[in-house]
Amino acid sequence: MTTAQPPGRRDRRRALRAGLAVAGVATLAAVAVVVVPRLLPPGPRPLFQLPVPCGETWRLGTYPGHDDYDVDLFPTEGEAWGRPVLASEAGTVTVAGINGSLGGRTPDDPKGPCGRGGGYWVKIDHGGRWETQYLHLLEPPLVRAGQRVARGEQLGRVGSTGDSGAPHLHYEQHRGWEKAETWFDGAASGITDDDTEYSVTLTSNNCPAAG
Ligand SMILES: [Zn+2]
Repeated sequence: MTTAQPPGRRDRRRALRAGLAVAGVATLAAVAVVVVPRLLPPGPRPLFQLPVPCGETWRLGTYPGHDDYDVDLFPTEGEAWGRPVLASEAGTVTVAGINGSLGGRTPDDPKGPCGRGGGYWVKIDHGGRWETQYLHLLEPPLVRAGQRVARGEQLGRVGSTGDSGAPHLHYEQHRGWEKAETWFDGAASGITDDDTEYSVTLTSNNCPAAG
């Protein structure tokens, strides 16, 4: 025997139960969409290219205290200031803004006050849990968060904002939650730790697609 209840209360209880069921399904869906992709193994490495124009030769280096896998790029010819910074691969911009503080280092005042962190920077999600980062840009990025970019699309210009000693591009490739060794045009850069000063010289194959 169940206790008779006024119909109104029973309806409310049924509605509440239905509501909880919907909320439960919504939570499961959110877990499936947001959490599960983060647990899956990363996808294959995209064919990243140097983040500078086709045919240009740049020195990629690191130094003690820089952090493992981090790469600083300096052109082997000409001034670094204002050189175009390009997307290594197609993707979606997830960050385009200021990391830390800008400081006051400009082409007119290269030894001006140093900022903190990355200064003007851009982060791109390439899918498969791969991402690239571009730091110390001269000016506000030329792209905005949420924007889809093509490989070779210009993101900004080389500068010295944030914690930067001289104009250069600080660049990283990430797989999942971790920094990974940078690869360019299908080859590993060899920059894997910051135990010693180390550099390699590479020529960009970030060229407009043929045809
Ligand atoms: Zn750096």
